[in-house]
Amino acid sequence: MQEDLFKRLVSHAKEYGFIYPSSEIYEGLSGIYDYGPMGVELKNNIKEYWWKAMTQMNENIVGLDSAIFMHPKIWKASGHVDAFNDPLIDNKDSKKRSRADVLIEDEIQKMLGKANKEVEKAAKRFGDTFDEAMFRETNPRVLEYTQKAAVIEKRLAVALSNNDMADIKAIIDELEIADPDSGSRNWTEVRQFNLMFSTQMSNIASEDGKLYLRPETAQGIFVNFLNVQKTTRQKVPFGIAQIGKAFRNEIIARQFIFRMREFEQMEMQYFVRPGTQVEFYQEWKAKRMAWHARITPPEKLRFKDHDNLAHYADAAVDIQFEFPFGFRELEGIHSRKDFDLKAHTEHSGKKMQFFDPEINESYVPFVVETSVGLDRMFLSVMSNALVDETVPDAQGEDSTRTVLRIPAALAPVKCAILPIVKNKEELVGKAREVYDRLKLYFQCQYDDKDAIGRRYRRQDAIGTPYCVTIDFETIENDTVTIRERDSMTQIRVPVGEVAGIVSEKTDMRTLLV
Ligand code: ATP
Repeated sequence: MQEDLFKRLVSHAKEYGFIYPSSEIYEGLSGIYDYGPMGVELKNNIKEYWWKAMTQMNENIVGLDSAIFMHPKIWKASGHVDAFNDPLIDNKDSKKRSRADVLIEDEIQKMLGKANKEVEKAAKRFGDTFDEAMFRETNPRVLEYTQKAAVIEKRLAVALSNNDMADIKAIIDELEIADPDSGSRNWTEVRQFNLMFSTQMSNIASEDGKLYLRPETAQGIFVNFLNVQKTTRQKVPFGIAQIGKAFRNEIIARQFIFRMREFEQMEMQYFVRPGTQVEFYQEWKAKRMAWHARITPPEKLRFKDHDNLAHYADAAVDIQFEFPFGFRELEGIHSRKDFDLKAHTEHSGKKMQFFDPEINESYVPFVVETSVGLDRMFLSVMSNALVDETVPDAQGEDSTRTVLRIPAALAPVKCAILPIVKNKEELVGKAREVYDRLKLYFQCQYDDKDAIGRRYRRQDAIGTPYCVTIDFETIENDTVTIRERDSMTQIRVPVGEVAGIVSEKTDMRTLLV
């Protein structure tokens, strides 16, 4: 069922101009996608929601747009050159490459899936009297699966943080994990693979001219810390927010736009006085969850603490979303201490400090970071929104519809203007006049092709929250009907009131508090 939803989503996204595979006429490029006319609108609206929530709503958070290319030493200082790796394994028979940790994580999911099956079976057997918590605690088979999963999860976390590739291989062998495509267990050793893409500056021939495409936007913020602090005269605590492209040479890009090789991040680094980071970490955890919950059903969101903390972090949590393929990371919130600013001080020789007038002291600020993938947000919004439903009291073609219940402020098109028929000049003229007025306020679409029911369905499928219909009564008394997407109810209002009504319901303001 969920798998079906995912397939539907991918094809719907393509059919209605949200997302296309990149370079499609050349058979595509794996892990790269293009956003179509509807997609770019939705994506821009998600960006605006994040940007305004961060910068407009917080007087101590300012924006930045740093370049994708940066001095190569930055990636040495940040640790990306030496340690931004994923464990890779090749299958000797199928020649397929896999991420060794993902193979193990999938196996853990299978174990938990088996435990859940046992629980489902028992729930059916016992009916109303079933006590799930008790069953999970006492049933030997469920216990065996869940305990085994927990042991493996812990062992994997330790192996990853110790860089112990041999133990990762040992887990794969012990669990007899086979290549998902070919079933073969003929694996190579596990080795580390650096995820940064590189390119060469034309004016320097040597290694010194080697540039990286940034794998995260955060470093652009760290290296501009002094510039921004001085030019905006912000005092700690304050934040710098940035939205931009990031590039990672993912070993396997999969699950549509969930894991891409070129993607966008929305990151905010919050600089705080050392010792106060726990308080701000908790604050940002709560704030970020509230931001998500304003557009996503809360039961589809959860926190997941990191099993293996990076050596420089003193706390890290993911906000996970229930994608059609299960709960996965949507956003990371990390307390990174002074790791980044200190590293840049060491490598650049510039003191990345702040003089705090309140305590009359200079220090390297600690950082609490929030980092969310824009494309993953896009996927979460789409998977929440896509619904196939039956329409009560409707007949034939009109009895079912596909609707994208995107929050109105994020919808690509806010309002469609539809003359009830297209062969009456008076109606079409009036509809054009309404369109020309409304387009000054928000994104509109004019459509006079096909029967009105079909046009409503087309707008439902792209998530347009309001359709304004111009009919014969409009000519008589200058009123129109406004149809609301989700309830499909219609109200008749004077033409002059439409802009106000639709603006009120679709403005970004509706999401900001
Ligand atoms: P994952 O464990 O899924 O690889 P990560 O922990 O490496 O993600 P971060 O480095 O914390 O991710 O990046 C912050 C955010 O950027 C993630 O929460 C995710 O939303 C997004 N992101 C990271 N990698 C990708 C990718 N390859 N494609 C799309 N979004 C990504």
